[in-house]
Amino acid sequence: MEYYDYGIIGGGPAGYTAGMFLAKQGHSVILFEKDKLGGTCLNKGCIPTKSLLHSSELYAEILSSNSIGVGFENLEFDFSKVVEKKDKTVEKIRKSLELAVKNSGVKTVYAEACIKDKNTITAENNEYKIGNIITATGSKPRELKGLEFDGKFILSSDDVLNLKTLPKSVLIIGSGAIGIEWARIFSNFGTEVTVVEIAEHLIPTADIDVSKRIERIFKQKKVKFYTKDSIEKINDKQVFLKSGAELSPDFILVAVGRSPVLPNYCCDSTIIGDSCGEIQLAHYAIHQAKELALGIPYNKDLIPSIIYGNPEIAWVGKREQDCGDDCKKLLLPITALGKAWCDDATEGFIKLITKEDKIIGAHIVSKEASSLIHMLLTAMQNNISINDMKKLCFAHPTYSEGIFDILINL
Ligand SMILES: Cc1cc2nc3c(=O)[nH]c(=O)nc-3n(C[C@H](O)[C@H](O)[C@H](O)COP(=O)(O)OP(=O)(O)OC[C@H]3O[C@@H](n4cnc5c(N)ncnc54)[C@H](O)[C@@H]3O)c2cc1C
Repeated sequence: MEYYDYGIIGGGPAGYTAGMFLAKQGHSVILFEKDKLGGTCLNKGCIPTKSLLHSSELYAEILSSNSIGVGFENLEFDFSKVVEKKDKTVEKIRKSLELAVKNSGVKTVYAEACIKDKNTITAENNEYKIGNIITATGSKPRELKGLEFDGKFILSSDDVLNLKTLPKSVLIIGSGAIGIEWARIFSNFGTEVTVVEIAEHLIPTADIDVSKRIERIFKQKKVKFYTKDSIEKINDKQVFLKSGAELSPDFILVAVGRSPVLPNYCCDSTIIGDSCGEIQLAHYAIHQAKELALGIPYNKDLIPSIIYGNPEIAWVGKREQDCGDDCKKLLLPITALGKAWCDDATEGFIKLITKEDKIIGAHIVSKEASSLIHMLLTAMQNNISINDMKKLCFAHPTYSEGIFDILINL
């Protein structure tokens, strides 16, 4: 029977990261993947959605650039090419990943794996002796009672990636990162979008100012939304909300989170990534894998969240609603920045929450928010004082100088 120091079930970000780092340290590693290497992130999540989002943003931006002197007559898009570009992007990245995994010395078996006991994995009638089993089996779209996926009228985030044509109207249930990103993709392409959120505000996990700003932006962009609401009943594609509203979407996208996938006897293994059911983000999965393989620790309270699109949304640390009177809240509108006016991207703000001489929360709605947040994360993780941050020389004109503009007034 073949023996490996580590047997990893699941070839998503958690599994392949752990595998490659363990192999590079000289361990023998076998990785089992029942579908495609790269997992949800590469094949059904982070990457394909960002490719679609990019195409849609480009289209929407050009469509609205007449006012800045870049007009196009009869601007069109070909959705089949948009889909083709998404598929090619995923394939290209997957090929590089497959090569990197192979070159690291990890043996990959494409089969569904089961844990027989704490030192045995079975796959396709073969048994493998394993020193340590790692479960990295990820998650799957969460279903709601009465809204079970049928792939036709009630779609999951997996189903929606297989669309070949765009709907005229769509109802999105849930306003987390997945719901908001899809609302943006569809609405950029001209689909009529309605979002239904059961909580009081859109993006309920975000800082209250971020939620309110996104609601304002959605109103401006004519993305309809209902908060504190949910589906009462569906009659032949006619959807009735608890609030009394009636909608007739082409289909419903249910984006209400993800449920962990766990194999049998997983308690005999170390569990990482989405299958833990904790923070379900690719970078968290990767970080857990790095801690396991390399011993690099991480701070669970400082995991950044990002929602892509125009403008980007990014946050890390404490939200205003989590803080007491001993914290300060500072907010700079993006209109204060010259670069934003040049880019025609004045929507948003940078908000910092501070306590004593430290930043404890950062919330950004702005172009480049996904990059800006990391500078604040570096300061927060390393306990850099606001006084020391003030000594940094920020280049002009940039979005990051907004951070300096806030700090200097403290
Ligand atoms: C639409 C969408 C957009 C997203 N966008 C982002 C984003 O922008 N940024 C971000 O950080 N996160 C994003 N995520 C979340 C991200 O995809 C996940 O957090 C990440 O993929 C988790 O990695 P993982 O390795 O734990 O699990 P997964 O990526 O789910 O990988 C698990 C793998 O295990 C395999 N597997 C399961 N059971 C078995 C078995 N018994 N035998 C063999 N193989 C098995 C599966 O086939 C799968 O390939 C998004 C998710 C979705 C759905």
